[in-house]
Amino acid sequence: MIEGKKMLVVSAHAADYVWRSGGTIAKYIKHGAQVHVVVLSFGVRGESNDLWKKEGATAESVKAERFAETKAAAGILGIENIEFWDLPDYPMSPALDEAARLRMVTKIREVAPDIIITHDKNGEDVLNPDHNAVSRFVFECSIQANSNGVRIENTKTTRQMRLFGFEPHQTELSRFVPDQLVDISEVYDQKVEAMKCFKAQKHLIEYYTQRAFLRGNHLRRISGNQTYKYGESFSSVFPVAGDELV
Ligand SMILES: [Zn+2]
Repeated sequence: MIEGKKMLVVSAHAADYVWRSGGTIAKYIKHGAQVHVVVLSFGVRGESNDLWKKEGATAESVKAERFAETKAAAGILGIENIEFWDLPDYPMSPALDEAARLRMVTKIREVAPDIIITHDKNGEDVLNPDHNAVSRFVFECSIQANSNGVRIENTKTTRQMRLFGFEPHQTELSRFVPDQLVDISEVYDQKVEAMKCFKAQKHLIEYYTQRAFLRGNHLRRISGNQTYKYGESFSSVFPVAGDELV
């Protein structure tokens, strides 16, 4: 049941949440979930190569373009709650300090999410150490948010939430194993339109449309539901817990 669910998505760079979870986000919003997105950095140094080819490009001009692109993509996906922390990237890990940690724990407690989606739990993204750092950072902050002993004024300890990892770009090289497949067929066109906003990373649009098609194949094979055409996959930090095997 998606309606009423609260989801927090934490994206290391401006476009990560769109490539890897844009369909799932749009689907959750369409079906009545509350979705909050935190974009930690604009990816000015590491994920804006094409923008730097423009004559006279500066860090400020690249950042402004990335901001406009990701705002436009968020609008297409129906995201109303999005914030930009504007941390440095490549590397990001020095900026994930105590102040950032306090801010993230507070954010998690404000949203009180049923679900957090961020970079893959294994922390083995073979080409992107920022993604690994954010994976660890969000995991640790979620544990802190759930701990009564972590006292932050005007915040309430959260309950254990489900925590999922994005499929990284180099899936096999990063030893990513999909634990969850989500059908995004009904919002697939929205995802494609959102991806088109990112002019600095045009080469990724075709890649992620192919990836959605591949995951659609897995969805049909495993579920038996032939209406599934396109999908996204996620890793799961925690096992499913309940009365029976599901
Ligand atoms: Zn990234």
